[in-house]
Amino acid sequence: MKKEDIAVKKVKRIDYLSPEYLYFKTDDETKYLVDGKSKILKEQLLFNYHNKNIYSTVSGKVLGLKTIDNKNFLVIQNDYKEKYVDNKSLRKKINDLSKKDILDILNESGAEYYSNNIHYFLNHFDSIESLVLSLMVCEDAQKIYSNVFLDYNSEIMEIFDALSQIFEIKSPIIIISDTDDKNIEYISNLSGMYPNLRIVLSHDKYPASHPLLISRKLSLTNSLVLTSMDLYYLYSVIKREKRVLEKEILITGESLKYDYLVNTKLNVLISDLLNVCNIKLKKDEILCKNSAIMGDTINSYDVLNTEIDSIVIAQKDDEKEKECINCGLCNKFCPQKLNPQRYKLSGRPYPGSCIDCNMCSYICPAKIGRKR
Ligand code: SF4
Ligand code: SF4
Repeated sequence: MKKEDIAVKKVKRIDYLSPEYLYFKTDDETKYLVDGKSKILKEQLLFNYHNKNIYSTVSGKVLGLKTIDNKNFLVIQNDYKEKYVDNKSLRKKINDLSKKDILDILNESGAEYYSNNIHYFLNHFDSIESLVLSLMVCEDAQKIYSNVFLDYNSEIMEIFDALSQIFEIKSPIIIISDTDDKNIEYISNLSGMYPNLRIVLSHDKYPASHPLLISRKLSLTNSLVLTSMDLYYLYSVIKREKRVLEKEILITGESLKYDYLVNTKLNVLISDLLNVCNIKLKKDEILCKNSAIMGDTINSYDVLNTEIDSIVIAQKDDEKEKECINCGLCNKFCPQKLNPQRYKLSGRPYPGSCIDCNMCSYICPAKIGRKR
């Protein structure tokens, strides 16, 4: 995918921080800590779901259980008062914290909300030598990471620098698309403030933003690649002592006139998010989370959680697989040089070095998908 393929569209910003109803997924194993019809506060513990503590994103009233699309949810009605369980103040300096303080805060404060990257950090902090902030935009959905950095660059740099110092990371690096002019301008002024910081401009050809390919490009071992969203979560939890209850999300798609950058509560229905943007799905459209190329499909009755950074509206592809025409594209574009044609056609298992980027399926003119 070339940069020219990434649509340059106007971004419409929308706030959806006061939704009327919030939905928290439950099941028969759920241990509830609130009763039906009880009043609850923002950040109040609602229930334990598969060993995860689930907290309310608003203050309001428990309406009870509701089944939507065969899934069960505890529904909360917002009272719009935003009353917190405990109103904590900002920490003055993250750098005053020790490694143990940070790990305690993260483990206590809401590990259930973190991305896989942050869980990796929590489990491997002692062996990480290089910390990479990736602002790569290899497809439309990843524009969210560039936008979040534009909105919160000073907060993200504060936590990135503090973590690098506290965890004695030898090599903090920012890798950024060579066409992201606004963020490049900001970052190029940072070198005086962060003398150890390495800044790398990279061509944003899919799948160059894959963490393994970033580590290889930068010749790193024992590295951790975090997105701007990961770092903003870390900032919120460590500096503000807050659970992550809100987030920015990008809604994009070929049929949309604009990209929508929505500042929203978590635990809202995707259908409600689409409604506030006035987006009506057409019959032949589907929703993918985080990537049109490798993202799983979601439906409009799913609930927004921290795993979803962007929603792509894509065309349903009902075209059937055809005969391989031996075009060689899948072999040419496989970043691991695996000759995927051989595995696609024989059904043999893919080698362990396959990074699941899905490029070989996406690019295939005969619609022959990767058999996983
Ligand atoms: S085989 Fe396909 S999914 Fe695996 S690395 Fe190559 S292009 Fe990506
Ligand atoms: S891209 Fe598809 S059609 Fe082309 S060689 Fe690979 S499997 Fe065959």
